[in-house]
Amino acid sequence: MRAVVFERHGGPEVLHEAELPDPRPAPDEVVIRVSHTSLNRIDALIRKGYPGIKVRLPHVLGSDVFGVIEEVGNNVTHLREGQGVILSPVHGCGHCNYCLSGRENMCRLWSMLGFHEDGSYAELVKAPARVALPASGSPEELGALPLSLLTAYRALVSVGNVSRGQDVLIWGATGGLGTIAVQVAKAYGARVIATTRSEEKEWVLKQAGADLIVNTSEEDAVSRVMEFTDGKGADLVIDYVVGTTLDRSLEALAGGGTIVVFGYLGGPVKELNWNRFYLKHARVVGTHTGSPWEMERALELHRQGLVRPIITRRMGLSQAAEAHRVMEEGSLVGKLSMKVDL
Ligand SMILES: [Zn+2]
Repeated sequence: MRAVVFERHGGPEVLHEAELPDPRPAPDEVVIRVSHTSLNRIDALIRKGYPGIKVRLPHVLGSDVFGVIEEVGNNVTHLREGQGVILSPVHGCGHCNYCLSGRENMCRLWSMLGFHEDGSYAELVKAPARVALPASGSPEELGALPLSLLTAYRALVSVGNVSRGQDVLIWGATGGLGTIAVQVAKAYGARVIATTRSEEKEWVLKQAGADLIVNTSEEDAVSRVMEFTDGKGADLVIDYVVGTTLDRSLEALAGGGTIVVFGYLGGPVKELNWNRFYLKHARVVGTHTGSPWEMERALELHRQGLVRPIITRRMGLSQAAEAHRVMEEGSLVGKLSMKVDL
């Protein structure tokens, strides 16, 4: 099969096309013929060399996939060749306590498509059959959904317990994950305050359905949150910036509120007002990705038309290096979809 690989860590230029052996399914696995994949921020982090986690080289990136089942393993009875599926991007060992209780992303042996194992920047990809979820609809949309929708769903719903009437603050929400997170929060009846540093990107927050858009290069986010919530603050804050925002998240938080953290694009925290932390009864909860059953629940939101990826760029997978350049120059909003054209 053809695939986009990298053999050493580095800039976008390390990505190139290569011929790899076709993956074959183990008894409990399926092989998918990839139709569409998309770009996630973690792709660039893995390409550069993810701190503390080694990948086998050459490596195939790609955590999102929509495609058609090409081959099923001998033990797989619930799926058939030719069926359209997405893959839930994370699975565990399948038999520890975490896995048996549906929390596969907490498994000690958690494994993510395109990270710990070869991903979807390829014509074919294989995965355990239990993470292949039948899906119908736009291949382009389905191929741009999995990782961002799963992460947003888990952060807001499973961890954050978002509910009707709550106020949710999402920092830096114009990317693929942020724009989906806004929609998930809206689907659960929350009011959403979304921030961006760029006036040109505000339109995408409007399109995602944000109730209040704060341009943090011109306005103070905490004051706007307090004004918007009549001095109460945000019940839930989604924070993947952390370094420059966590202390502000705490300041903008309502008493008894929750801050959910799943990344720290803004680097480590320099200061935190611990006084405020306990006086507000704040909860700061860490999480990453999500489990196959959360993927299934999240996909239901898409089936019902409540969330959809906002795709603003379309490229062929053969242009993956260029796609990475576009993401890293910082002008991208929403999702960049890649169609397999190798
Ligand atoms: Zn496990």
